[in-house]
Amino acid sequence: MLADLSEIELKEYVKKIGLPAFRGDQLFDAIYSAKTLEEVSNLPKALKDIIADDYPAYKIIKELSSRDGTKKFVVQFADGHIVECVLMKYKYGYTLCLSTQVGCRMGCKFCASSLGGLVRNLSAGEMLGQVLLINRALGGNSRERKITNLVLMGSGEPLDNFDNVCKFFQLVSASKGMNISQRNISLSTCGLVDKIYELAKKDLNITLTISLHATQNDKRAQVMPIANRYTIEEIIKACRDYYALTKRRIYFEYTLIKGVNDDKEDVARLAKMLKNLNCHVNVIPLNSVKERDLIGTSRLMAYKFVDDLKNAGVSATVRRTMGEDIEGACGQLRNKILNENK
Ligand code: SAH
Repeated sequence: MLADLSEIELKEYVKKIGLPAFRGDQLFDAIYSAKTLEEVSNLPKALKDIIADDYPAYKIIKELSSRDGTKKFVVQFADGHIVECVLMKYKYGYTLCLSTQVGCRMGCKFCASSLGGLVRNLSAGEMLGQVLLINRALGGNSRERKITNLVLMGSGEPLDNFDNVCKFFQLVSASKGMNISQRNISLSTCGLVDKIYELAKKDLNITLTISLHATQNDKRAQVMPIANRYTIEEIIKACRDYYALTKRRIYFEYTLIKGVNDDKEDVARLAKMLKNLNCHVNVIPLNSVKERDLIGTSRLMAYKFVDDLKNAGVSATVRRTMGEDIEGACGQLRNKILNENK
């Protein structure tokens, strides 16, 4: 698929099928403007026939708007599979939360994305496609880039699709492409320790975010099966090493689940394990997912939790939750379109 190719690779592709170089520029422009092949007016029909199977066929099939201005898009790929992505408007620009896999095999008990298991990985170009389509939906094109920040926090575990995700970072940050600074890209992981070490060696400027959600391994394993594979101590050690190598501040996501991970001892343990690590903790009360029976801590208690953390010397904030009314908030993304009359 042509969106998987870098500018240079696209040039090689054009050369291989015997076309002059300027066709490569035209194609690049069309792909990065998220045009459908029919909409591309400067390519002859015979050429379109040759590239038809390789040209991106992803499209937005549904768009939902939240009361708070957040938008959720359903993107469909050539094979019919869908993912959801969420667009949030901030003072500094637009942040897109995108998906890295159709479904997910991590099995976190509080998250809708893993309900049907993993369906398949997305290619680098399919991740890029989400950015290009939504840039276009905002009125942008190959030169006018409307999206400034990306978070890999949609469905899927990015480090479980490692090579494609790394390729995607190269594509989306290329200056002629979407030109999104790697500093404005966050990758969120449930903590695949081996891959965190691999990522550290990739010489990227992205922000590593860890979904921690507990301070004790047994409690973590109750809600996150991955905790049976890697301990919290191993994750924190990997974060310290990641920081030492990249000098990029580490972020932690801590979802408060009533009665599971939200008491004073958790604050104390968190403060102890994060001591002297340059990091920030985003605390977020659990969002409801109808198939799941876990309950979120109240927002009031979340503020108390954060105050206690701050008093213990940890940088922390309660994260705003956005798009909950359109099932666009954390943990609510899935690979099925919900029946609207539910
Ligand atoms: N697999 C990656 C990317 C998913 S990011 C990861 O685990 O980090 C989605 C973020 O939302 C993660 O921090 C995830 O733990 C969190 N999340 C999942 N379900 C949630 C829910 N119901 N309420 C609040 N946050 C949730």
